[in-house]
Amino acid sequence: MSYFRPAIDAMTGYIPGEQPKPGTKIIKLNTNENPYPPSPKAMKVLQNLDSEWLRRYPDPFAREFCRAISDALGVPTDWIIVGNGSDDLLNILVRCCAEGNERKVVYPMPTYVLYRTLSAIQPAQVVEVPYYADFQLPIEELVAANGAITFIASPNSPSGHLVPLDDLRKLAQGVSGIVVIDEAYVDFADYTALPLVEEFDNVIVLRTLSKGYSLAGLRMGFGIANPKLLSGLFKVKDSYNIDAIAIAVGTAAMEDQAYKNACAEKVKLSRSKLVVELKNLGFTVLDSQGNFVLATPPAGNAESIYLALKELGILVRYFKQAGLEDKLRITVGTEEQNQALIEALVSLI
Ligand SMILES: *Cc1c(COP(=O)(O)O)cnc(C)c1O
Repeated sequence: MSYFRPAIDAMTGYIPGEQPKPGTKIIKLNTNENPYPPSPKAMKVLQNLDSEWLRRYPDPFAREFCRAISDALGVPTDWIIVGNGSDDLLNILVRCCAEGNERKVVYPMPTYVLYRTLSAIQPAQVVEVPYYADFQLPIEELVAANGAITFIASPNSPSGHLVPLDDLRKLAQGVSGIVVIDEAYVDFADYTALPLVEEFDNVIVLRTLSKGYSLAGLRMGFGIANPKLLSGLFKVKDSYNIDAIAIAVGTAAMEDQAYKNACAEKVKLSRSKLVVELKNLGFTVLDSQGNFVLATPPAGNAESIYLALKELGILVRYFKQAGLEDKLRITVGTEEQNQALIEALVSLI
């Protein structure tokens, strides 16, 4: 006899990347945080915190933050839903739409592992379709699986590739359920799928402040879709899923697009340099549109390099997963961090 539902007993929990205590002397290139601090304007709001914000419940719709998003992205405020990180919105979507064998969750592989975890909790049947060579989207198979939800991370993690908009259009046209385009890394990419939310009433685009805005600790994300799609999600969302501090700080960060864009440009420059340096060491490196690269060491010994780097105080991400055993996902850090990584790799290879 178990305390838990059979679905919970049967599943493995999501394993997040290691998070050493702040202050630990470590170069942290394992969970795709932005290496630069959040906007100084956001930090100023935090320092001037009003106790009234904490005494009262927060705004359940985070309207101030939605207004800032609307100004930055040119979408109407009633096309926005705010989440406690975009993970919260992924959870809401699965709870809202997926169930058992009839209402499946579908996604191409490899991708963000949380899609599987959330489906296992629900529980909902999952259809995992392998990407074609060179990360071409397997559109026919994804359409045939006809998910109640189809998740596409673009740019994808851990590969870093961006899915062409016409592929996403074919997918949205072909399925009867919702297509979730997870744009956690869009701030480092060449284009967005945002125009698709106007073209298709079954498309939602998810964004986060965790990567581009350097606010992973704040837990703020949002989704953009037509109000009819959002109406179901609002029924499932916790009323107070975003706290008052996050609303105030997140709003200031959203208003400071110039700062976010300047940091993203620095990351993109460092990304190009890092790719060249890794290739010079014999690594195979995929072109990336995120703030990370997926790299295969020349001898394929990714796990032992991961462990050796850890000994040297450098954390990168290693996935013990079919197709990824010989690869490392490396977050783009500051110039100094990337240099330290390259020097460590020279000593290891
Ligand atoms: C980091 C990441 C998220 C999670 O973002 P949060 O807003 O921090 O919850 C979602 N999707 C992908 C693909 C990610 O890499």
